Amino acid sequence: MGVEIDGYLAAFANLRTDHNRNRWSAATCYRAPHKPFLLLSILDQIAQGGITGNFIEPSFELAETFVQYWSRVMPLGSSGNVAYPYFYMDSEPFWELVLRPGAEAPVGRTVSSMKRIRELYLGAKLDEELFLLLQMPSLRERLRAVLIEKYFAPEVRPLLLEQGEINLQAYEYGKSLLAASKSEEITLEFKNESLGRQVRDQGFRKAIVKLYEHRCALCGIRMLTPDGHTVVEAAHIVPWSESKNDKPTNGLALCRLCHWSFDEGLMAVGKSYEVKISPQVKREPNFPGHMLTLSDRPIFRPQDSTYWPMLENFAWHRKAVFRK
Ligand SMILES: [Zn+2]
Repeated sequence: MGVEIDGYLAAFANLRTDHNRNRWSAATCYRAPHKPFLLLSILDQIAQGGITGNFIEPSFELAETFVQYWSRVMPLGSSGNVAYPYFYMDSEPFWELVLRPGAEAPVGRTVSSMKRIRELYLGAKLDEELFLLLQMPSLRERLRAVLIEKYFAPEVRPLLLEQGEINLQAYEYGKSLLAASKSEEITLEFKNESLGRQVRDQGFRKAIVKLYEHRCALCGIRMLTPDGHTVVEAAHIVPWSESKNDKPTNGLALCRLCHWSFDEGLMAVGKSYEVKISPQVKREPNFPGHMLTLSDRPIFRPQDSTYWPMLENFAWHRKAVFRK
């Protein structure tokens, strides 16, 4: 076991990555951070039970976790493409892409989108020994430490360690939100307020977006990109500042326009779960006309009725926020 883990610690410390002072900053030791971010995401997914067998699927959740690490450290506006490390990890001794039956390996060409990855590959396998080692939390943490220390500057290391902690706790929090009954209180203790807020936001978002299958409750739009982006956000019906309530019965998945319109009081939900549009929208020619076509349509709700928004939360919103 000792010999095996040493081999993988060395392999993680010697990833083949693009080394270029013009392209990459000191924060990532002048190297492309894609492979370390993907491996950190895989460690998180294993810890959360998102990867249970030795088969790393190019899933939305994996891509989403990659994006979370990326946006924590990389400059605003830069976007990391998870397809690159997923594909180029094939040059590492512990990673093997598994082609779909009938698909041909793209010899000499790169694969630069997750859509294409899914067309070509069923997934990827790790070395059997590595996968077994990754089941042990202490060994996962040693491999995580190598990735963070080897490929990132000292000032960004705490951010990545914290992101790993947030990912795990947000997952647990999201699970407890889904498990809680309507009356039960959910209390959380965090070592600081900022960490607590990030865990709550991420956990609430994960739970809500999943329940609504990435669909906007008000207009029904659903757009999910294979590289980890979704059109919907998680919205509180009664704001957190007012209610301190993250339960699914106080949440809605909304696209950005509906989220803004709901918070601004231009949209609301009525007693029979129907969409209500503020009369102000009808009067104001600048508001998007398609909103009017949503009037009186039933909202989209989770399959399991225990997660449906509570009507009294909508009543609060109509009274306090909706513009009549
Ligand atoms: Zn919408």
